Amino acid sequence: MKSELNKLFGDFLSIFFPRECGCCGCVLKYQEKFICIACDFHLPYTNYHEYSDNDTARQLWGKAPLEEACSFLFMQKDSRVERLIYQIKYNNQPFLAEYFGYQYGLKLSEVKAYQDIDFVIPVPLHSSKLRKRGYNQSTYFGRGIARAMEIPLREDILVRKKATISQTGKGRLERYENVSDIFDCQNTVLMDNVHILLVDDVLTTGATIISAALVLFESFDCRISVATLARA
Ligand SMILES: [Zn+2]
Repeated sequence: MKSELNKLFGDFLSIFFPRECGCCGCVLKYQEKFICIACDFHLPYTNYHEYSDNDTARQLWGKAPLEEACSFLFMQKDSRVERLIYQIKYNNQPFLAEYFGYQYGLKLSEVKAYQDIDFVIPVPLHSSKLRKRGYNQSTYFGRGIARAMEIPLREDILVRKKATISQTGKGRLERYENVSDIFDCQNTVLMDNVHILLVDDVLTTGATIISAALVLFESFDCRISVATLARA
């Protein structure tokens, strides 16, 4: 009876304060939390965490000696996932990243290769961009993962010195050369042989995440795996 009343009250509230699905924009029903049932069913999950030899890992092979790499969702043009990423990055809905992070964290916890991860590091935004947007969506994604995996999120290690990676007129190899110009490491004393999960929102060229990984490798003794919310 109580839950019936709650549902009724929830539906009543949603008339005045409609909550929208983060993927398709439809009005959510009371029992739907962040995305609607239809989107949840149709989202293109990669299942990359289930096997090491996946396309995200292959894309990063040879550029940094990573342990594992995976992406949660495929992002195609004009798709549910593209809308979701837009909501997260540009429409002030970072909690969607945390929600998906938590779902992914639950899945990663079930895979042996990810079970010895010590902490999560989100790829940081440059302070100017952080000020403008007000939040780092990768932090929210990482927070969800960390909560599900019951490990800490560390934002005090990797620092971003440059807002963007300049790729114009540079070959693929050259792009990774001056990585220490983009990111910097701090607070790395007394850390040995830790396994880090480096997380970002979308994997495109991979240049940013590789740059971040290389700086971490340069700074201390660690193993690094990578997880992104989506891959373009
Ligand atoms: Zn939907």
